[in-house]
Amino acid sequence: MKNSHLHFNTSIGVKKPESIRNKQAACPFCARDELVNLIEVDGPIILLKNKYPVLENAYQTVLIETDDCQGELSTYEHSHLHRLLKFGIRKWLEMDQTKQYESVIFFKNHGPLSGGTIAHPHMQIVGLHDINYKENVSDEIFEGITIEEKDEVRFTLSTKPKVGFYEFNVEMADNIYIEAFGEYLQIAVHYILNNFPFRANSYNLFFHHYNGKIYAKAVPRFITTPLYIGYGIPQVPNNLHWMADDLKSKYLIS
Ligand SMILES: [Zn+2]
Repeated sequence: MKNSHLHFNTSIGVKKPESIRNKQAACPFCARDELVNLIEVDGPIILLKNKYPVLENAYQTVLIETDDCQGELSTYEHSHLHRLLKFGIRKWLEMDQTKQYESVIFFKNHGPLSGGTIAHPHMQIVGLHDINYKENVSDEIFEGITIEEKDEVRFTLSTKPKVGFYEFNVEMADNIYIEAFGEYLQIAVHYILNNFPFRANSYNLFFHHYNGKIYAKAVPRFITTPLYIGYGIPQVPNNLHWMADDLKSKYLIS
């Protein structure tokens, strides 16, 4: 039985610790000795079962990115960035290949407007038993202005964004991890947090395994436009070329 809506368990939801807004709360991901249900560990990187599985009909895991609570993907050393993304993508695709799920999603929330609750850098890999996220995906949401292309990795700014405004995309083939993929993704996130003209403190990453490719979408988060909430109409700003050039001049032209 397929489903169009993912069900959220509110009684588990209220028990979840909150460390993004409540700075006094102890960080559960720093208490490494107390973590249970570990799935795989690679040095400071830990994949484990989510202690608060708020989603019904889903298998929820958490990927703790580092043992540094103040760390952030935008500032990781390249060696750690690649180690993390290789590990995360491998575990995500492995879960997909078990065929136990209708689809498997891999994403990251960062900052108060991202929907995240715990500040310690982490991502999530979630197997959905009755929802195929790919049904809501089309080629055009990954199309856009090419910012740069290297080693068969493409870095673009969406011209037909899924929700609207600014969506950065990085794509590579699904058979081998290429370092340019991680580096472009890191640049997108660093630009969002530090050089974005509209001051973003929150972003999401959404990975997609689609048509033989791996896509990562980096989305700065603001208050969502009412036209999208009310009517599902995504808006496209008229300064995309300016932004692609601005990013290029700050990060890619030496
Ligand atoms: Zn922490």
